[in-house]
Amino acid sequence: MTGAAEVRFRRVALIGIGLIGSSISHAIRRHGGLAETIVGSSPTASTRDKAVEIGLVDAAFADPAVAVAGADLVILCAPVGAYARIAKSIGPALSPGAILTDVGSVKAAVVADVGPYVPAGVDFIPGHPIAGTEQSGPESGFASLFDGRWCILTPTATARAEAVERLVQFWKALGSNVELMTAEHHDRVLAITSHLPHLIAFNIVNTAAHLERVTDSEVIKFSAGGFRDFTRIAASDPTMWRDVFLNNKAAVLEMLGRFTEDLFHLQRAIRYDDGEELFQLFGEAREIRRGIIMAGQDTPAPDFGRSPQTKKPPQG
Ligand code: NAP
Repeated sequence: MTGAAEVRFRRVALIGIGLIGSSISHAIRRHGGLAETIVGSSPTASTRDKAVEIGLVDAAFADPAVAVAGADLVILCAPVGAYARIAKSIGPALSPGAILTDVGSVKAAVVADVGPYVPAGVDFIPGHPIAGTEQSGPESGFASLFDGRWCILTPTATARAEAVERLVQFWKALGSNVELMTAEHHDRVLAITSHLPHLIAFNIVNTAAHLERVTDSEVIKFSAGGFRDFTRIAASDPTMWRDVFLNNKAAVLEMLGRFTEDLFHLQRAIRYDDGEELFQLFGEAREIRRGIIMAGQDTPAPDFGRSPQTKKPPQG
């Protein structure tokens, strides 16, 4: 593996300093040798002030073009719906030889929105750390967020191999495992592993809330029956998730179609008292959970690792 000195960056610019941006900063600082300077950009003054106050960045700027000037690593950490505007403004200020990457939860739309503004000589390598929580803002980040999680990189055709390797080593230094794939493949995989589960969670929580027969207090009082676990996912940031669904339409709609077919299958099994079918399907689902725990992607703790003593929170 490449040593820390080889992946050292002079100036890292974080465009967006929320959960993911602040966690990257904490992980860089924890490592010690990855960046000489970290700067940030965020539209809200209170976010910028907080980011400087708690040491996430050495300087914070309202204008992202100012933040990226002189940076050799630029990481977009804002909601993906804001990327096109950000890219248009930072494009002319990007330094030749810089790596431009991001953390957005969709990838093909990011390539389409940002790609046209990337000047020649800048290596554009979109990325997505598969790690998160339902929290947001500059104070929600922590250094271990990426430990043992996967980060997917979807290098564009023009990105130089050495730049891709540098970014791979950067994410490894932050604690991640790294995998490379195409943006389109990423979007299909994430549609089923992340986007659809969030859509289901948003829907079930709202369905329960709208049920007139059940009072709010009963929904909350008896939430440990399963509902509670959906509410954690459904508490995720509405701006981020609106942008995810608007920017990964095709893959999400395809997975939603498959999901609906399977749901009808379950509905039918219940209607016709097909216990054998239900038992088999639930058994298969249980095996998936075992596989996730064996792959080190969650804890077998009965509270899903949510207790304060547990170091790794669940993924978002
Ligand atoms: P977050 O905590 O809500 O932070 C978003 C940050 O982006 C804030 O600093 C916000 O600034 C800034 N921002 C908003 N609009 C902007 C604009 N127009 N220009 C520049 N900055 C802007 O969000 P997050 O969870 O870190 O998510 C950031 C990105 O990570 C998203 O693209 C998301 O898809 C991706 N991601 C999230 C997760 C997760 O679990 N949350 C996991 C993996 C990837 P202000 O505070 O000033 O408004």
